[in-house]
Amino acid sequence: MSRRVFILGSTGSIGCSTVEVIEHLRSIDGDGSWPVVGISAGSNCELLLQQAAQLDVEAIAITNKAALKFKNIFSNSEELLKAHAEPGDIVVAAIVGFAGVAPVLTAIECGCDIALANKETLVAAGEVIMKAVQEAGVRLLPVDSEHSAIYQALSERPNAEIAKITLTASGGSLRNIKTEDLSNATVEQVLNHPTWSMGAKVTVDSASLMNKALELIEACWLFDVKDDRLEAVIHPQSIVHGMVQFVDGSVIAQMSPPDMKLPIQFALTYPKRVDGCSPKIDWANHSTLQFEAIDKIRHPAIQLAYDVIRLGGTAGAVFNAANEEVVESFLEHSLPFGAMVPIVAEVLGTITHSENVTLEAVVAKDTEARELTRKIISSQKVNS
Ligand code: NDP
Ligand code: MG
Repeated sequence: MSRRVFILGSTGSIGCSTVEVIEHLRSIDGDGSWPVVGISAGSNCELLLQQAAQLDVEAIAITNKAALKFKNIFSNSEELLKAHAEPGDIVVAAIVGFAGVAPVLTAIECGCDIALANKETLVAAGEVIMKAVQEAGVRLLPVDSEHSAIYQALSERPNAEIAKITLTASGGSLRNIKTEDLSNATVEQVLNHPTWSMGAKVTVDSASLMNKALELIEACWLFDVKDDRLEAVIHPQSIVHGMVQFVDGSVIAQMSPPDMKLPIQFALTYPKRVDGCSPKIDWANHSTLQFEAIDKIRHPAIQLAYDVIRLGGTAGAVFNAANEEVVESFLEHSLPFGAMVPIVAEVLGTITHSENVTLEAVVAKDTEARELTRKIISSQKVNS
């Protein structure tokens, strides 16, 4: 089998893993298979051009530096898609953050299936995206490992048969740090993730458990469940990625070593499965799989996710925008680790949420939330 592919955010961690998967699928399906029509990036020109040559890409897009020599170049992912996408193509959405929303919507409007890594898209604009997916009749395939696991475990069983969806969390780089030391964790400590190698933003989110909070909201949209059928548990080995408990009490889990190439390939070849290029489980090395409840006092991000789910409307856009801003400040060493989640909570509690969820409303709330977050961050700097 083979499909025409776009990779948005090709120079990032998920983007680079997607390039590996494409090379692997080409080695199975032969010359000319899995054509990559277009790739896009934010600023890494060198890697983008190298990938374009390696994959024999038709067109590229780069947002921050357009002065590149390439036969067919665009200034953003939306323009690239409008010029080259055809119904039935598959678009790997691997841009980080809210910047991924507009390209995903464009891809849907072009009739493309989406392999969605960018969880922020559904958190901020879930209602808009799900409506667009339904109208266009395209497939939205999760790449986030937990959601890919749930998708696989569900196997298209009806929603009424789901009793509970459980997402696992590694616990991030700070899992073994004492609660009283958490608030002063350094950028270096936080970026040192024990089981996953990922981009900086998602690694910080993992440590604060904001990543799991975002994923709980993402799961609501993907699987049409609310907070009463949704939970997250700590599972340090990152072997079980997600589980579905059905109404009869049976639990079906998906397991594999932590490697994003598997969920990426699953989305690309769906509904088929072909020989995989990621490591396989060796049970001799996995004699223990541990699960523990998440301490909601230590990790207030989880309660915030449930608040966002109950609030609905544009609450997700506010939550996501505030989080992106605090993470950026933390990575710039201008905000302590422990200040991030309380600031997000403050912004979520201050901004009024609109029920009328259009793309314009989402963009407006995103802007409002970023402004308020930056204001709070600067006032903390003045006071500290
Ligand atoms: P990275 O930071 O490694 O990569 C982000 C990518 O987005 C880069 O290619 C970057 O380009 C690109 N980018 C940023 N802004 C734009 C823009 N405006 N237009 C086009 N490209 C842009 O992130 P990850 O790969 O780790 O994560 C990507 C997404 O996938 C995130 O939403 C994350 O939550 C999700 N995810 C990641 C997982 C992982 O294992 N990494 C696991 C599950 C989900 P450049 O570098 O050139 O600026
Ligand atoms: Mg995940």
